[in-house]
Amino acid sequence: MALVNEHFLKLPGNYLFADVARKVNAFKSAHKNVNVISLGTGDVTQPLAPAVVEALHKAADEMGRAETFRGYGPEQGYQFLREAIIKNDYLPRGIHLDINEVFINDGAKSDTGNIQELIRWDNSIGVTDPIYPVYLDSNSMIGRSGVKDSHDRWSNVVYFPCTAENNFIPEIPNRRVDVVYLCYPNNPTGTVISKEELRKWINYALHNDALIFYDAAYEAYIQDPDIPHSIYEIRGARKCAIEFRSYSKTAGFTGVRCGYTIVPEEVSAATLEGKRIELNPLWLRRQCTKFNGTSYLSQRAAEAIYTPEGKKQVRKTIAYYMQNAELMLKRVRTLGYEVYGGANAPYVWMKTPHGMPSWRFFEEMLNRAHVVCTPGAGFGPSGEGYARFTAFGTHEQTEEALKRIERWF
Ligand SMILES: *Cc1c(COP(=O)(O)O)cnc(C)c1O
Repeated sequence: MALVNEHFLKLPGNYLFADVARKVNAFKSAHKNVNVISLGTGDVTQPLAPAVVEALHKAADEMGRAETFRGYGPEQGYQFLREAIIKNDYLPRGIHLDINEVFINDGAKSDTGNIQELIRWDNSIGVTDPIYPVYLDSNSMIGRSGVKDSHDRWSNVVYFPCTAENNFIPEIPNRRVDVVYLCYPNNPTGTVISKEELRKWINYALHNDALIFYDAAYEAYIQDPDIPHSIYEIRGARKCAIEFRSYSKTAGFTGVRCGYTIVPEEVSAATLEGKRIELNPLWLRRQCTKFNGTSYLSQRAAEAIYTPEGKKQVRKTIAYYMQNAELMLKRVRTLGYEVYGGANAPYVWMKTPHGMPSWRFFEEMLNRAHVVCTPGAGFGPSGEGYARFTAFGTHEQTEEALKRIERWF
């Protein structure tokens, strides 16, 4: 008898965005002539940069000629892209990486979900709360998170609440946690972490022999020059941190698929006997077994965003989204509501009026204003009483959604 992995049965029934989509579709089929605006799912709307499209065409042509056709590429990615990453994303910030520390992937979701395979099933994990659901769900699938209690909290997970009350600054735990997931700029709250606060986490990790999995998928949205883009801007991070980045939000690659993971050579974890094991060769081994590389086309497309034109074009699109964020912050604040984030991230995090539960707020806004947000509770217990709005819509959609919200409020 084949036995199922019962850990899957402990997961919440649906992935959050599938849940939201189901409710929105139900509303749409009941109200066929209503035009619903979505500021919900974190997907981009602006087309690819011309430099990226050009690179895609060129790569496609290469694939169509026998002399330049490419089959399987290196599992860890082509050298041209890994070198461009080191030279453009890290060197200007004083970070020196070896090419073997850069692993190209098909987007950060895969690696942020897969990285937990490198650690034993009984490590304790900690997450800021609210949080991108992938970290916890992937740990839950192999049983590391324990079971969910009636307050939607996993029994073996340490939560670091991030709310308006603590200014969205997670408190360093006073107990040992083996692995900490941090995501900055944060999805869903849109808040960032200062170098001082990040340094506290590195010191915590070094002191407790813990690992930090650092998701920097939104680093390109940072406007404030004092906010760190990479965890390796902090001394000591090379010993304890793995960093994830993605071209999805940086350059509209949600449909193209490409990102990368940095696993420094110094990062290690212990065996039960206390022997140190470097994680870089383990991750290489894992990738070579379970992953056959990102498509050549996607990698050439990613390389193109590092050309002078590519950089300019990508920056322009980010500025476009950030204008939406600014507009949302201003207008919702004018209505007298508390809003956060949005200054260095494409997300605006709003406290629901009168402490309304976030799923109820979601439903009311959908029914009354025909605008979709993401209910904060879907991101964790501390997201209750909040809603997330994305800046990824067009200016026109954002403007229209704000008008409807103003009328509704
Ligand atoms: C969108 C997102 C990612 C990236 O997903 P891809 O798989 O690269 O498209 C990673 N982390 C967070 C927090 C995100 O919001």
